[in-house]
Amino acid sequence: MASDVLVIGSGPAALVIAGELASRGLQVEALSAEDPRAPWINTYGIWADEVEALGLAPLLSHRWSNTVSYFGAGGPAESRPVRHGRDYGLFDKRALQEHWLQRSDQSGVRWHRGRATAIVHDAGGSLVSSGATPELRARLVVDATGHEPVFVRRGSDGPVAGQAAYGIVGRFSRPPIEPGQFVFMDYRSDHLSAAERRAEPPTFLYAMDLSDGQFFVEETSLALAPAVPFAVLQDRLQRRLAQRDVQVQEVHHEEFCLFPMNPPLPDLSQRVVGFGGAAGMVHPASGYLVGGLLRRAPDLARAVADGLQAGLDGEALAQAAWGGLWPAELRWKHAFFRFGLEKLMRFDEARLRHHFATFFSLPPEQWYGFLTNTLAPPQLLAAMVRLYGQAPWDVRWGLMGLQGREPALLARMLAGGG
Ligand SMILES: Cc1cc2nc3c(=O)[nH]c(=O)nc-3n(C[C@H](O)[C@H](O)[C@H](O)COP(=O)(O)OP(=O)(O)OC[C@H]3O[C@@H](n4cnc5c(N)ncnc54)[C@H](O)[C@@H]3O)c2cc1C
Repeated sequence: MASDVLVIGSGPAALVIAGELASRGLQVEALSAEDPRAPWINTYGIWADEVEALGLAPLLSHRWSNTVSYFGAGGPAESRPVRHGRDYGLFDKRALQEHWLQRSDQSGVRWHRGRATAIVHDAGGSLVSSGATPELRARLVVDATGHEPVFVRRGSDGPVAGQAAYGIVGRFSRPPIEPGQFVFMDYRSDHLSAAERRAEPPTFLYAMDLSDGQFFVEETSLALAPAVPFAVLQDRLQRRLAQRDVQVQEVHHEEFCLFPMNPPLPDLSQRVVGFGGAAGMVHPASGYLVGGLLRRAPDLARAVADGLQAGLDGEALAQAAWGGLWPAELRWKHAFFRFGLEKLMRFDEARLRHHFATFFSLPPEQWYGFLTNTLAPPQLLAAMVRLYGQAPWDVRWGLMGLQGREPALLARMLAGGG
C-alpha cells in the first residue's frame, strides 16, 4: 500500500518537512538510517528576530543582546567592536529535535529504520529499498539525507566551497570574549604575521559566553574551495587566544564543522524531490539553513498537497513539488548569492574586513535581510547598490571585473538562476 510521501532522513530538514506534510492530512512515512531520537551533534545558532518570527524563541537555550563583530586589523588602535543591536540565540538542540519529533508524531508520521539504497519509479510513484525494512512505496519521495544526498542528483560547475570551523566549548584562564557577549565575526588578525595576512585564507572567530564560566570559541572560514583544513583552524584559534593571553583550561566539547556552501541547484526535473542540504537550501553567502527550512517547508508541502489532490502522476507531482520549493525568485537569489560568494572568496584579509565593515554599516533591515534571505530581489539589489556606494575603493575594485568562473555565474544569474 503506497503512502502519499516518503521522507528519507531524520535531520532538521526531514523532521520539519515530514511534520509539515503530515499536518496537512497527508499520509507520511519516514525512513531513517539512525534512530530519529539520536542526539544531533551540530549546534544551531540563529538571529533572535528570525526565531521569534517563526514562533520558536522558547527553544533557545541562550540569548545574547550584546552582539558584536570586529572588522579592524587588531591591536589597541583597531579593536573597536561593531555593535549589531540585534539579539542572537543558540538553539537548545535537544528541545528543538523533541519539538519537531512531537509534531511529526502528533500528525501521524510513521517512522521506519533503515538506510535507503535503491529506488525505482513508475507512473504512480516510487519504491524505495533499504535492506532492513520491507520496500516502501510512496507517490512522492522527499530526500532529506543532507549534503551528500542518497538519491537527489546535482550537476557540477566547478569546485564547491566548504564552510569550515574548529571550535571548543570549555573553560579558559580568562574570558576569551567579554562576559555576556556573542561575537558574530572577529576578523582581527594581529595574531598572524604580515605574510600570513597577505597570502593565507582569512578566518574569523565566532564566540559565545555560555555562562557559568563556559565559553564557545570557534575559528571559522566563511568559504573556500578546497576548504581550510581543521589543523589550520585549530592552530589559528590557539594563536588568537594566546595573543589575548588566554589559555584553554578545560575542553568539554570540540566541534568540527564542514559543509558545502555553494553547490549548484539540483536538477529540478528529477523524480525525487530534495529538502534541506539535499536540495541546496544552505544560504550560499552565510551558511544558514534552519530558518530557511522553517520558512520554506509550507511552500513545498502546499505544492505536494495540491498536486496529490489534483491527481498528478509521479512525474508531474515531482515537478510541482520542485516548483513549490524553488520558485523563480528563490532561484534567482540563489544565483545572486553564489556570484557574491565567489567574489568574496577572492578577497584578501584586509579587503574582506573592509567589505564586512561596510556591509554591517548598512541599515539593519538590509544586512539582516541579506543574511536570512528574506529580502525580495529589488530590495537585495538596493542593498548591494548601497553597499557599493558606501564601500572603500579596495572593496569596489574587488567587486568589479570578472575572474575565473564569475562570468559563468553572472550569466546564470542574468538568465534567472537555476
Ligand atoms: C558543526 C556544524 C554546525 C552547524 N551550525 C549551523 C548553524 O548554526 N545554523 C545553520 O543553519 N546551519 C548550521 N550547520 C549546517 C547544518 O547543520 C547542516 O547543513 C544541517 O544539519 C543539514 O540538515 P539536513 O537535515 O539537510 O541534513 P543532516 O542534518 O545531515 O541529516 C541527514 C539525515 O539523513 C540520514 N541519512 C543519510 N543517508 C541516509 C540514507 N541513505 N537512508 C536513510 N537516512 C539517511 C542521516 O542519518 C541524517 O539523519 C552546521 C553544520 C555543522 C556540521
